[in-house]
Amino acid sequence: MVDVVIIGAGPVGLTCGIEAMRAGLEAVIVEKGALTNSLMGYPLHMEFFSTPELLEVGGHPFTTLRYKPTRSEALEYYRRVALQEELHIRLYERVQGVAGQDGAFEVFTSKGTIACRKVVAATGFFDIPNMLNVPGEALSKVTHYYREPYPYTRQKVAVIGGKNSAAKAALECYRHGAEVTLIHRGAALSDRIKYWIKPDLDNRIKEGSIRVLLRTSVRAIEQQRLLLDGPEGPFALDNDFVLAMTGYRPDYGFLKALGIGTEDDAYKTPIYDKESFETNREGLYLAGTVCGGLKTSRWFIENGRFHAAQIMRHITTGKVAPLRLAERHWKTLE
Ligand SMILES: Cc1cc2nc3c(=O)[nH]c(=O)nc-3n(C[C@H](O)[C@H](O)[C@H](O)COP(=O)(O)OP(=O)(O)OC[C@H]3O[C@@H](n4cnc5c(N)ncnc54)[C@H](O)[C@@H]3O)c2cc1C
Repeated sequence: MVDVVIIGAGPVGLTCGIEAMRAGLEAVIVEKGALTNSLMGYPLHMEFFSTPELLEVGGHPFTTLRYKPTRSEALEYYRRVALQEELHIRLYERVQGVAGQDGAFEVFTSKGTIACRKVVAATGFFDIPNMLNVPGEALSKVTHYYREPYPYTRQKVAVIGGKNSAAKAALECYRHGAEVTLIHRGAALSDRIKYWIKPDLDNRIKEGSIRVLLRTSVRAIEQQRLLLDGPEGPFALDNDFVLAMTGYRPDYGFLKALGIGTEDDAYKTPIYDKESFETNREGLYLAGTVCGGLKTSRWFIENGRFHAAQIMRHITTGKVAPLRLAERHWKTLE
């Protein structure tokens, strides 16, 4: 029997593995995809919002050539850390359920069963997109995962959403020759768009390079057009591709299967203790971005990485400590 099974090899799952080892615990990390699988799915040429030292785990220095790390640099950094720390990681193995109780769990995976004393779910939120739930959303021209601008050159692209991902995708596609329309159901684009992205987007809109449709929602997606509802009523827009940048949500089906409940709040926040990170199921912990529920901007790598030490302290000593440092880092991100 191992001490801890950690579900998910994202930045936070890896940090849990490092902290478990440093606390003298035997830990196995089980990941359904590749190492740092979520980062693999990010836009190919993306730049993180955070500076590299805020993404560091286990005290390993993360140095980058420029001010902000790229996706490739982050992939390389976490890969190097995982190998350097000799973490016990099982890749391409999905956790399907957890039976038993605190001190005697059985973790069922797509490849077998692992007996353990404690379980940490660091499963993030990137696997389940928020759907538009409109006819035509399943067409191959629609994606919820923007990768790169090149497929869209000289194409009519609708970017749906009003936050950072939509802003970045719209700008990148425009700069690579796409005819971009940004569609947002709100009266204005989010004021949380990063301060170095917003003026660029505002100016492109002002000069007419990117068209924006506010207070507009999508009613249906067809092969060559979109049916929209705007402030002046329904209308159609010629369209070749749709980038639905409407965000993501934790896998609530999986959390339910683990026996983790949700608070009765607007964000369907999973139930966990705010210092130990133990859930309503004793011996089972949550770590990282999954803790935010639908409020996916609550936890980042920047602050989520601190969950690991809290959890391992609780597992080894039963004690908890306030999360001061993590809270401070969250404020720097706002
Ligand atoms: C485009 C984008 C940019 C971002 N930029 C920043 C930034 O600049 N700074 C910052 O701090 N944060 C940033 N974030 C937010 C956040 O930090 C990341 O989402 C980060 O990946 C979260 O780490 P995590 O370990 O909590 O979850 P994830 O990295 O999502 O890891 C969860 C892992 O669990 C695995 N998993 C899920 N279910 C199972 C299962 N049943 N069995 C086995 N494995 C499973 C997944 O495959 C995944 O690898 C960004 C997010 C996005 C989407």
